[in-house]
Amino acid sequence: MGVAVGRARIIGREHRRPHRKIEGAAISAELARFAKAVSSSRAEIEAAKEELVQKHGPTYAPILDVYLLMHGDALLIDAISNAIREDSVNAEWAVSEVAARLKKPLLEDDSPYFQERASDIDHVREHLLRHLSGERRQESPVDGPTVVIARDLTPADAVHVLAPPTVGLVTELGADSSHTTILARTFGVPAVVALGPLPIDIEDGDVVLVDGFSGEVTLGASHDERRAAERRRDRFTSFLKAERSTSAVTRDGVSIAVAANIELPTEVEAALENVAEGIGLYRTEFMCLDRPEPPSEEEQVQLYRGVIRAMAPKRVVFRTFDWRGDKRLRVDHHGRHERAWLQTQIRAVLQASEEGPVALMFPMIATLTEFREARALVQQCSEQLVDAGAKLAPLPVGMMVEVPSAALLADRFAQHADFFSVGTNDLAHHALAADRHDGRSAVGPLDPAVLALLERAVNAASDAGIPCSMCGGMAADPVSLGLVLGLGYRQVSVPVSVVPLARAVIRNVDLGAAAEVAREALECVSADAVRELLLERLGPDLGALWKDHGLV
Ligand code: PEP
Ligand code: MG
Repeated sequence: MGVAVGRARIIGREHRRPHRKIEGAAISAELARFAKAVSSSRAEIEAAKEELVQKHGPTYAPILDVYLLMHGDALLIDAISNAIREDSVNAEWAVSEVAARLKKPLLEDDSPYFQERASDIDHVREHLLRHLSGERRQESPVDGPTVVIARDLTPADAVHVLAPPTVGLVTELGADSSHTTILARTFGVPAVVALGPLPIDIEDGDVVLVDGFSGEVTLGASHDERRAAERRRDRFTSFLKAERSTSAVTRDGVSIAVAANIELPTEVEAALENVAEGIGLYRTEFMCLDRPEPPSEEEQVQLYRGVIRAMAPKRVVFRTFDWRGDKRLRVDHHGRHERAWLQTQIRAVLQASEEGPVALMFPMIATLTEFREARALVQQCSEQLVDAGAKLAPLPVGMMVEVPSAALLADRFAQHADFFSVGTNDLAHHALAADRHDGRSAVGPLDPAVLALLERAVNAASDAGIPCSMCGGMAADPVSLGLVLGLGYRQVSVPVSVVPLARAVIRNVDLGAAAEVAREALECVSADAVRELLLERLGPDLGALWKDHGLV
């Protein structure tokens, strides 16, 4: 989200790597040159890790550990030395060849997990090539606010470059859920990733406009375009500031709770700044980014205590580790350790809960048996802790409704859950048999079949008298949010940066009119027809807000 205007700072242009024959005594010199590049590249990543810890605490540091490990990996580093020695080739050539060979089987697998591992190899290859060329990381050649333009940006480089004077990021490759994108979002830098090939003639210093709302990037903007983007940026910044202290009350006077979704504990600060009504979804599995297993029980207790204490007296909803779906995790999520890790996590949340209001929520619940087992595990963990002398207050145990089976039988689940939180990201894809990680499938929650499931879930909760929030992306979309309210939702949880915008939308919605729109939407024949209906019917009240931020 947000708009950035700055001058291009291009990093990581393809390095030349011609093939050279290395013979005789020159081979040892080439091996020494490669060893030196490995150690200076490793030192650079260690420095980036240190910088990360200094600036943002220890949370993100494990992101870089994998790159450090790869610098000592026999499959990669020894294989490159062997190629120099046995094929009598220069180090650059050997690095590129070995990286390509290791990536090949990964790229043959469509799974985003393996694609991401292949891009880890690319990142290490780029580091090594840069150090072989003797190039250290360059300070920006451009004065003033800069937009970093890169084919791809390694998380180690992101740590370094996503700080002032960088105001925006554009990458040709990457993905919305990559570590680099997560870091950009956390550091508040508008980013457009996976844009595809950029013009070859772009130069350092060219003016670049980055529209984090629409995903558009304008190169070589005219003076007028630039002024217009700057005005939009300034308007959005002051709009967000002004919205920090506002309430989320609809036109007809109904209060809606707008909580924040977080992935990492450092986002709590922004959640407080944006006056979020607590944390509605803490995606705890993100703490396992690139670590071989979750942090220890004691580490988790400390981490959770910090988040709960900072948010108190507002509530933090801990979602237990969600290994399914693609969170691009390295942990062994094939179930071997899942129950032990879950138990450790539940124990940690229970122990930390003395710091303030907390709830536990289980993801991807598909059957009643699963949910009952989950509750039983919470009970068992509480009893163990109480036996050991802990004083625990009972905490609400809820579930995500994001599997169609749970939405269909929501009335029965509501008899067992203390609350529902609806995840439209998974629900839409499972309901429509689409692959969530295939960017080509234009599946969205506006499909009438999904709307029917959403209505079922909220009605079941209301009949059972339990709270029902929506934490999926539909609530964060300013065009769909009116429909969410019309379907009956009175609590939402959205990414931290969207909290002020969501409140502004809510203030412009009349619940009576929204309910009427929801009734009509349920009768529509397609998602497109629903979207048209929203634009037409909610447009008179919300159109100016949408247009102002380039949302329609
Ligand atoms: C969802 O599926 O809508 C959701 C909120 O969970 P996640 O995006 O983490 O899968
Ligand atoms: Mg989900």
